Amino acid sequence: MSGNYARLEAVQQIVNGKKAKTKMTKPLSKIWATDVFNLAKMEEMLSKKAFKSIKKTIKTGEPVDMATADAVAAAMKEWAISKGAKFFSHIFYPLTGATAEKHDGFIIADSDGNMITDFNGDLLVKGEPDGSSFPNGGLRQTNAARGYTLWDPTSPAYIMHTDNGATLCIPSTFMSWKGHSLDKKIPLLRSNKAMNEAATKVLKLMGEKEVAPLNSSCGAEQEYFLVDANFAAARPDLLLAGRTLFGKPPAKGQEFDDHYFGAIPERVQNFMQDVEDQLYRLGIPAKTHHNEVAPAQFEVAPYFEAANVASDHQQLLMTVFRHTAKRHGFVCLFHEKPFAGINGSGKHVNWSVGNSTQGNLLDPGSTPAENLNFLLFCGAVIRGVHKYGPLLRIAASSAGNDHRLGANEAPPAIMSTYLGERIEGIFNSIKEGKLDDASEAGIIDLGLSQIPTYEKDAGDRNRTSPFAFTGNRFEFRAVGSEMSVSGPLIVMNTILADSLNWIADKLEAQLSSGADKTAAVIAVLKELMEAHGAAVFGGDGYSKEWHEEAEKRGLINLPTSADAYPYLKDESIKELFESTGVLTAEELASRFEVYSEIYTMKIEVEAKLMIDIAKTQIYPAATRYMNDLANTAANMSDLGVDFDSSTLNKVAELTNDMMTAVNKLAEQLDAEHDSAEAHMQHCAKTMLPTMAEIRAAADALEAEVADDLWPLPTYQEMLNIK
Ligand code: ADP
Ligand code: MG
Repeated sequence: MSGNYARLEAVQQIVNGKKAKTKMTKPLSKIWATDVFNLAKMEEMLSKKAFKSIKKTIKTGEPVDMATADAVAAAMKEWAISKGAKFFSHIFYPLTGATAEKHDGFIIADSDGNMITDFNGDLLVKGEPDGSSFPNGGLRQTNAARGYTLWDPTSPAYIMHTDNGATLCIPSTFMSWKGHSLDKKIPLLRSNKAMNEAATKVLKLMGEKEVAPLNSSCGAEQEYFLVDANFAAARPDLLLAGRTLFGKPPAKGQEFDDHYFGAIPERVQNFMQDVEDQLYRLGIPAKTHHNEVAPAQFEVAPYFEAANVASDHQQLLMTVFRHTAKRHGFVCLFHEKPFAGINGSGKHVNWSVGNSTQGNLLDPGSTPAENLNFLLFCGAVIRGVHKYGPLLRIAASSAGNDHRLGANEAPPAIMSTYLGERIEGIFNSIKEGKLDDASEAGIIDLGLSQIPTYEKDAGDRNRTSPFAFTGNRFEFRAVGSEMSVSGPLIVMNTILADSLNWIADKLEAQLSSGADKTAAVIAVLKELMEAHGAAVFGGDGYSKEWHEEAEKRGLINLPTSADAYPYLKDESIKELFESTGVLTAEELASRFEVYSEIYTMKIEVEAKLMIDIAKTQIYPAATRYMNDLANTAANMSDLGVDFDSSTLNKVAELTNDMMTAVNKLAEQLDAEHDSAEAHMQHCAKTMLPTMAEIRAAADALEAEVADDLWPLPTYQEMLNIK
């Protein structure tokens, strides 16, 4: 294979280079949660009294007293030091969606210079990182830099190892000096609390005597790409933007669907097993892995857990993936659209709510029409999706995910919900004031005696729906692969809380006017479906007809994040967050500031990168090639040989087109803006189209210019050499 120096070197490395060391893994029972300070370890190490007290906090949210915090801190320190930790760190989740940490040593020296270790309840509970460099959206001036982290006892502490040491990591909340949330964990915990209160109210009205605290659950399916690190090192766009800004489509992409669920390449399998080993040590229940649709694309899905823990685990999973990929000579790409023209990556957020007394409230059971609790909770979700569609759209918004949403590979930017034939039928009958279950589940029988028969699911899957009911949970499929799952979970819990509060009021009125339970539920859900049934859609979400139909139904289509984010200022959304106690008006306003700034910054960084690469890598390659061709043409003419110089003309034309667009983009970058809204619109509607022009010319050049002059590793190389 030819290629310029960097590319040649990369290919050499891949073909002959060192393979990551492989080691035989230990049995699951030997490694499971060995790096987690979980309840089992606390039970071993704490006094009965301290254990009972911390367990209560973890299970029911009771406040921790200082004596317990001291006892837990002492045990945690002893355990962590025995595992080689010399440092501890509060881990927190700022609004960037990233994971942040500030490390402190256990060590202090006494007046004689002797080493002693120090860690107590105070240090466990509260940390004070200089928060001024985290985005706060106006919640704090830079001169008032104090940020606080407070221990979240409900998410277990763990140890992170490197080759030379270990760190005790303590999941925490992050807030300003005034107590405003600067993070994604505080609103997630608050949203769960709001959902629990509203759900309890409804269940009590439904005559449930005993109602244990309700929790939301999350199982996130994570898609990602692996690219050899040698190629990534030669692609400034992959390194700095996480996606390719240039690259002509390969002769063979995903046309044959031969990668999807295909045999996993051995090198990748090795990587996956290494990663999973570490995840198991961290108590993260990675359950499935497989190839995805695009070449070099894969998926991992852990088993679902309580939303707060699942969210922390999701962040940790991404960290472990990034680190481990490096050791295996890969770069792990979580960007939603690393390669144009090839499927992007999502993060399907599977979500349900339940408790230990009523179980999963989104499980219809075998006779859904008789399961009134299920119908109420499912109805509550329908109302939420309809009333707060734009907010759900925002929860799936980012500059990266905009490349994916609405393209024919991911659900559209219009929010609707798919219920499956049977459940949709029941809700349609409710709209007519009845409670009918027309479709029986039925048995699937292939007529082959050796193949077992099984009961048919209540509905098929619909992969074109952004928010699909999948049997016992909803699956929010619009979420982007790089995003924190906290945002989507906060929104889902909060809209559910709001709808359950609405249902509780209506139900109470119905019941106190003498209606029996079934009649009351039908009446409430009939009203709900009349107002909000428009959000239920079982057809093809990718089709043009749906866009027209959705418009008729009054569903809002927000094609870009620039169109979506301004809805954060909508009065109804402010009211939603305030009434549920999830975000104050100031906290909500800060989210708009932060998210819009991240959005514009992302696109501007990409624009600058594009200009750089076009000018300093692609333009020189093109002009060198033109020089070659021009020399050839001159020589041929001297020799009197007929030479077709159309390629030379084409390369010259494309090069000029590219540079014209580059100059235009440079000017657009300098524009001034009156508001964040205008700035976002400028990025989405003016700069991105210019960037597409640059790319079109550059990709066409890639098809013309001599391969040995082309500076960037090609799609063909990156996607196919493993
Ligand atoms: P699929 O690709 O068919 O959608 P996967 O097995 O890849 O399914 O992922 C499904 C995800 O949903 C897993 O993380 C699983 O643990 C999670 N899940 C299953 N049941 C629930 C539930 N009741 N609540 C939340 N998540 C769930
Ligand atoms: Mg799924």
